[in-house]
Amino acid sequence: MICPSSTETIAEAAALLRDGQLVAFPTETVYGLGANALDAAAVRRIYDAKGRPSTSPLIVHVDSIGMARSLAAEWPDAAESLASRFWPGPLTLVVRKQLHVPDIVTAGLPTVGLRIPSHPVALQLIRCCGVPLAAPSANRFTELSPTRAEHVERSLGDRVPMILDGGACQVGIESTVVSVAGARPVLLRHGSITVPALEALIGQLELGSAAEPGQPHAAPGQHPKHYSPRTPLLIAGRDTPPADARVAHLHAADVAEAALYELLHTLDAEGHDAILVTMPPDTPEFAAVRDRLTRAAARE
Ligand code: AMP
Ligand code: MG
Repeated sequence: MICPSSTETIAEAAALLRDGQLVAFPTETVYGLGANALDAAAVRRIYDAKGRPSTSPLIVHVDSIGMARSLAAEWPDAAESLASRFWPGPLTLVVRKQLHVPDIVTAGLPTVGLRIPSHPVALQLIRCCGVPLAAPSANRFTELSPTRAEHVERSLGDRVPMILDGGACQVGIESTVVSVAGARPVLLRHGSITVPALEALIGQLELGSAAEPGQPHAAPGQHPKHYSPRTPLLIAGRDTPPADARVAHLHAADVAEAALYELLHTLDAEGHDAILVTMPPDTPEFAAVRDRLTRAAARE
């Protein structure tokens, strides 16, 4: 059920979460499907609702650097610089985890992904619960991420007791993910915070396998097919639609990053045979959009 966000509905949502239930809530990136990150049985419900394989680690949302540090076994200088500069905001930091973070949250990895979201409803919800919230995007596995409460309702409405409505997501694409758990920082996923912006602060980033669109991904959770509309997505120059197909054309360079998923949701609902995408240029500001479109167009 979609509920407008208010002090009362946020308190109700927090009570559900403390009771081990799921709540979908807005963040500035996309809507999240949240559970108490310290309750393994609650987190199991996220995987069940999404149909997501448990080899895919979840991002844990916190309301302060203090809460983040309480889940981290180590807090390197790079984590402190990145968190001070970009939190609250669309950056996930992967650090070594404390033992009390359940393995199901991290897909058995010794590391955990952490972020402070900037959406006021998300922040108020975490504060009200007093616990960190594990929350992947609130959609079924491999589907398009939701940027409005209605998108969540369409995908998971029958599986989540409460969807807090916080309007359209302002960033509209998933967070940039950086691992600072090893000797050198590694980019695991492109997002709206670009590689040059990160490198200006902490020096050269290694590009993890996830950084190369279309390549097989060694990092957990980086399934080649992901972020997909139901309508087949084709890439101009690589794919040719059948001659009689009703095709929607999308020139990705003309679409604001924040509006990409919204537009894909709309095109998907219009019932075309295919969506033919002209990729934006291969430059840092389009890296996240190229990554998501490449995976949305993957066959497997
Ligand atoms: P989603 O929650 O759907 O936005 O996906 C979370 C993504 O964060 C995963 O697919 C990984 O790319 C990344 N992630 C989260 N936790 C970790 C971790 N411990 N190690 C590596 N990547 C992680
Ligand atoms: Mg997702």
